[in-house]
Amino acid sequence: MAGTPDTAGALRAAFVEGATTATAICEAVLARITAQNGDLGAMLAVDESAVLRRAAALDGLADRRLAGPLAAVPVAVKDNLCTAGLTTTAGSRALASFVPPYSATAVERLERAGAIIVGKTNCDEFGMGSSSEHSAFGPVRNPWDHTRTPGGSSGGSAAAVAAGLVPVALGSDTGGSVRQPAALCGCVGVRPTYGRVSRHGLVAFASSLDQVGPLTMTVRDAAVMLGAIAGPDALDATTAAAAVPDWEAALGGGVRGCRIGFPAHLLERGVDAEVAGAVTAAVKILASQGAEVRGIALAHADLAVPVYYMVATAEASSNLARYDGVRYGHRHAGADGLREMYERSRSEAFGAEVTRRIILGTFVLSAGYYDAYYVKAQEARARIAAGYLSALAEVDLIALPTSPNAAFPLGERLQDPVAMYLSDVFTVGASLAGVPALSMPCGLTSGGLPVGLQLIGRPFDEATLFRAAGAYERETGFWRVRPSGAHRGSGA
Ligand code: GLN
Repeated sequence: MAGTPDTAGALRAAFVEGATTATAICEAVLARITAQNGDLGAMLAVDESAVLRRAAALDGLADRRLAGPLAAVPVAVKDNLCTAGLTTTAGSRALASFVPPYSATAVERLERAGAIIVGKTNCDEFGMGSSSEHSAFGPVRNPWDHTRTPGGSSGGSAAAVAAGLVPVALGSDTGGSVRQPAALCGCVGVRPTYGRVSRHGLVAFASSLDQVGPLTMTVRDAAVMLGAIAGPDALDATTAAAAVPDWEAALGGGVRGCRIGFPAHLLERGVDAEVAGAVTAAVKILASQGAEVRGIALAHADLAVPVYYMVATAEASSNLARYDGVRYGHRHAGADGLREMYERSRSEAFGAEVTRRIILGTFVLSAGYYDAYYVKAQEARARIAAGYLSALAEVDLIALPTSPNAAFPLGERLQDPVAMYLSDVFTVGASLAGVPALSMPCGLTSGGLPVGLQLIGRPFDEATLFRAAGAYERETGFWRVRPSGAHRGSGA
């Protein structure tokens, strides 16, 4: 159908059937990046000749059916995931010229599944932010409205998918960085269960929270992408041994009998009325499809933002200690002695938000405040997690908005870190609890901006998330509504 965007599934099918070539797919992607990225700022490094070499290799295969579930699918990768031979900056001056000697496990697995890594996507520095404005390489713009942010920190990945530069992308989600930009850009974004996807080769922000996840147009593409990257990895001891189900097969299951908890009390304050309306309407649609919707209370939900910003900054301050200018990363030239070299290298390398987080994290871990802040935050984290798990003992899924508002204007929250942090009020809870969550489009505001519905599931039960999301998508088809100017596909 003309005007239907080319999903990863459609591109793979066209490639396997011989209706197109990987080279043609990649040439079109590269042309779109050239034409649109100057305005969007979504992509950083793109190695055109490497992309075309990889495409030619796929085209040369004797049997295309053996090329994998993502055969010839172009993928953009958040720039905090290592890509062998391709600059990986994490949005920071600290790593402006860092070329990793290896690829992240998630990236390697995508390639093994037949995907083509077309380039790296812009993001908040080290994943710290909710607007993709905290990048050393300039802000990302929202394809729906170039005066607004795409959300963050995986804003480049979300914008690249929303604008149709690529059908799918990888992001990372520590406290919402896949889900929130997915919501603000009208994409599907999945944060898997903690331990589902290897963090090997992901530039560490907060190791007890970081997860890699897909950003796509459709729920099916998200299921296939997650299926390709999930599973145990000897290089990340926190990956779980849990078997990886066939999530694509789960999609058709429907929501009949699925118990969905809706904590409507959380939507009463601080949530944009149109967002609350769209999410409430989405829950009604799921009910009309046979889900059993009930009101629930989520214990300690009000603590999630402050607790997250203590735990995440504490871990960040420790993880970022490695950027000392000694082995790799930015080094100040001509310092007078080691101490000055450290000080100058780090001051020059980090932007204001990262510096703020290092200071906050160092403070909550410091001898005099450790018990009052860090230990207390860990205790509160355990209670928040228990609140989610006890709710999820009564229901199969929890429905919430992904973000309390649609895309906000560039610059609006830059001078107000607390306002920026409150963008994460609905996403940090699932992160702290380690449970999987998915965001998907559930309509537009009167101003024409996408709204995200978040579904949260039990640990390692992504299948139920995909089942409900698949049913809702079939009913509503919101994914077909694209920003004006977005590539709408060949109908392949
Ligand atoms: N916005 C949150 C933060 O700034 C989450 C970021 C993320 O998930 N990487 O920490």
